[in-house]
Parts: sequence; structure tokens; C-alpha cells
Amino acid sequence: MYQKKIWCPFCSSPKIFENLDIPAKKTGSPDSLKHENKIEYKRYICQGCEREFDNNPIFQIIEALFVKLSHSKCLFFYLRSQLEELKNEIPASCNQDASKLLTGSKIVFKDLFENPTDPFSQVFLAGDFRLIGGSDHVKAIKNLVAWNSAKFLSQSYEQFETYLKDVASKTLNINKKYLDSIKKSDYKNYKKSSLSSNDDNDWRMFVGYVLKNSTGILKFLKQVYPEIKKAEKQNYRNIDLEEWLEVFSEVRHAVTHSDQFLKADRVRSWPHSKKKILASYFSGDYNDENGSLLHITDHILYDDLKLIAEYSFLVYKSWSIAEGFEWEYFEKKHN
Ligand SMILES: [Zn+2]
Repeated sequence: MYQKKIWCPFCSSPKIFENLDIPAKKTGSPDSLKHENKIEYKRYICQGCEREFDNNPIFQIIEALFVKLSHSKCLFFYLRSQLEELKNEIPASCNQDASKLLTGSKIVFKDLFENPTDPFSQVFLAGDFRLIGGSDHVKAIKNLVAWNSAKFLSQSYEQFETYLKDVASKTLNINKKYLDSIKKSDYKNYKKSSLSSNDDNDWRMFVGYVLKNSTGILKFLKQVYPEIKKAEKQNYRNIDLEEWLEVFSEVRHAVTHSDQFLKADRVRSWPHSKKKILASYFSGDYNDENGSLLHITDHILYDDLKLIAEYSFLVYKSWSIAEGFEWEYFEKKHN
């Protein structure tokens, strides 16, 4: 999905650009041209829509993430509506026995003791659907929808982490000076060849090894681009994004390793603000006594996908302004 070729950020036309050979804009902070020695600044004009754009090296990274997030949203929506339709198809007459509805769905298997050359090969049919009523079937469909929304949510966390990793790798690749923001003792044994490499993949390996996860990577990015920190604490949502990410990380852990069960002993000591985030952004029915099974509704999933996009955009915008690149490449609409 991630493509290296250049395309117009406004109309997506490929390969129809001319280099305008215009120097970097002298706007932004006094440091905004610090990239000049590390990456050649280029401007293009699109022969399709005639708009200008630059070679912001992280635009394609955020674009790749947005494609993945929107695709997840679209696939989940489709899956959910198909499963809802299936639920509605169950007639009242199936309430006691759903076997007619499930015709042809039994498991077909063979006997492994069978000789491969046996001319009288046999199969067995298993799964007696007379034991399943229509209401069990409806319940299983509901569970499948819930399971899928939790899986999509957990996958989006990993996509966000990959995005952060790609941005941090690009940052270090463009300017090795940023290595100063990482404690030397954390990487002093790391192979030296990578530290002078210009290959994004080498830096990705380095970032994974030294900064480890989204928390570590964001800590590094915030040191280099302190603007990120401001909006993490003061934003239109009135939440602490750092706390949101910590809660999200715990939710992802529950989805991946604990069958969607959020254990009370992992949450009980959280401050009120984090519990509030858990309730409004992830699952409304957690209790400190026994923990709870996560209940990720479609609204919760869509809102978290939106917040991942917003957090990623915050990193992208802060990065672009600090490095002297343009960032206004996304379509704007009024609410
Ligand atoms: Zn264009």
C-alpha cells in the first residue's frame, strides 16, 4: 500500500509534475530551514489541477496511515451491515431450531488413519444445528460484530505505532543530530553502520530497538518537536492525549492477550481522569470490583479512529512546520 513515487496531494495525479526549482519558503520558526542541508527542498506544480506542492518527506507516511484507517472503517462498516442483515433474516419460526438456516455449514472432515490410496474414501459431517436456536444465532452474530470492532480497534493502534516509527525513522535519517535527543547509553552497543546509514529501513530497525513502542517514540518526537506536547494537554477534546494512549495501550493488550477482558488489577489504581477516558473512549461498563469484558461499539471504534487521525495529524503538522515543509494538503470541510 505504501508507495514511494510522487503523486499530487490534491488530485492524486501521478507522474505529471515539473520541478519548479523554488527555494524553501522563509516562513515559520527561525529554525524552519534547518532541513536545508539534509534534504533537498523541491517544489512541484501539478499538470492536472495546477496546484503547487513540496516534497514533504512525511506526507506520504501520514497519507499511507490515513488510507489504512479509512479502509478499516469502510471494511468494518460493510461487515457490520452484512451481519446485521443476516440477523434480520432470521424468521421467528427459527427461534427454536436454526438448523434449516445453517444448511450446508457443517464441518466436513476425514479420518487421518485412512490410507491415502484407499479407493473408498469417506468424509464425516459434524455439528448438529438442531441444538442451536435462532436466538443463539443472533447472539453469536452480535458477538462476532463486537469481536470485530475490538480487533479493528487493536489493529489501528498498531498502525498508529507504525506511523510513529516511520516518522521517527525519517527524522533521524534526515538529521543525525537528533540522535542527541536519545540517551547514548540506550544505543551505545547498536551496530555503528546503521547510525550513518541513509536507508529508512536501517533507521526503522534502530527506532524499534531503542525507542521500542509508541510511548518511547512519542517521547523522542516531543523532545525534538515540543509543539506536540502543547496540544497533547490542551486540545478541543479536553483530554490528555498521553493518558488516552496509555488507556488505549491497555485496551489493546486486553483485546490481543486477554480475550477482550480488562482486568481490574491493571486498572484499579488509575487516576480518575484515565478511568473517565476508559469510560467515554473505550468501554462504558468497567467496574473496579471484577474488571469487565470490553464492549467496543461502532461509535467507539469510529471516534477512536478519528482521534488516531487527529493525533497523527498533530505530529505531522508540528513536524512539517518545524522542518519548513508545507502541511496543508488535506481537504478542508466545515462541520
Ligand atoms: Zn493535482
